[in-house]
Amino acid sequence: MHTHILPKTMPNWTEKFGYGKFIHLEPNSDGSANMMQGSNFFRRIVENCWDENMRMEEYQKFATQVQVVCTIPVMFSYWAKPKDCAELSRFLNDHIAELVQRFPKNYIGLGTVPMQDQDEAMKELERIKSIGLVGIQIGSNINDQNLNEEEFFPIFETCSRLGLAVMVHPWQMMGFDSMKKYWLPWLVGMPAETSRAACSMIFGGVLERLPNLRVCFSHAGGSFLPTLGRIEHGFNCRPDLVAVDNDINPRNYLGKFWVDSITHDIDALKYILRMQGSKRVCLGSDYPFPLGDLEIGAFIEKSDLSQHEIEDIFCNATMEWLGLDKRYFL
Ligand SMILES: [Zn+2]
Repeated sequence: MHTHILPKTMPNWTEKFGYGKFIHLEPNSDGSANMMQGSNFFRRIVENCWDENMRMEEYQKFATQVQVVCTIPVMFSYWAKPKDCAELSRFLNDHIAELVQRFPKNYIGLGTVPMQDQDEAMKELERIKSIGLVGIQIGSNINDQNLNEEEFFPIFETCSRLGLAVMVHPWQMMGFDSMKKYWLPWLVGMPAETSRAACSMIFGGVLERLPNLRVCFSHAGGSFLPTLGRIEHGFNCRPDLVAVDNDINPRNYLGKFWVDSITHDIDALKYILRMQGSKRVCLGSDYPFPLGDLEIGAFIEKSDLSQHEIEDIFCNATMEWLGLDKRYFL
């Protein structure tokens, strides 16, 4: 789970809608493409970002059959007018749904929704369900609003009712402008963003009020699990600041959400496994991006974890998170 994909061609939304800095692709002569944010260069991507066959071949090298795909967070476009973001979301979701239809044993799809507008988001959730996607990917913040804000609750409630899983991905990292050097937004900001999202959903009572909502936090939950001792201590020593919306100890939520395995460190993974249990740690790669685990679980396979734990991480945890049955893929 946790891989990113884009359609090979997309409309130039900035031209179409006449404002903003939407992402579009400009092909290069070597077969790669530049992701352009309005007229600014954002990132160069290569064929494995959109070529479905190349993606399956690259996965085969690591004996991996199925990829859970979702868009790249910069595509969320939560800043756009809701109707425009809804149109863009439908375009991306239809692309993924069509891919899953053609390769049902190799691809599982997550959608994106206009989180900035409750009604548009809920409408798209119903549609996402009907076209065969099994969940959504959302940002760690929505236009700098935290995920505990009441306006997002009906969206989570709808996911819970429809049985759609939620993957929380860090993006628009806090401190971005003040720490651009050394790739710090990715190395420091992203783990903090994910902890921000987990703390917001726990302290805001989202997980408490929606016990059947299946949420997965990216990159092993970012800094949330490694700093849970501090978070719990804060909850105990300053309940007047921390326990204002939910008086249940944050440690109680261990094992009630999922995280992926992207730690690049077996000791960190073992710590996460002790906290979460192997049924709540899914094999994630962040393919095809360089900060991901691009040897798809090799560090787990050659570890001394038990076969049972490895099977949970490689398959069962993701199946439970998404509400799927592995027999379907055999
Ligand atoms: Zn990612």
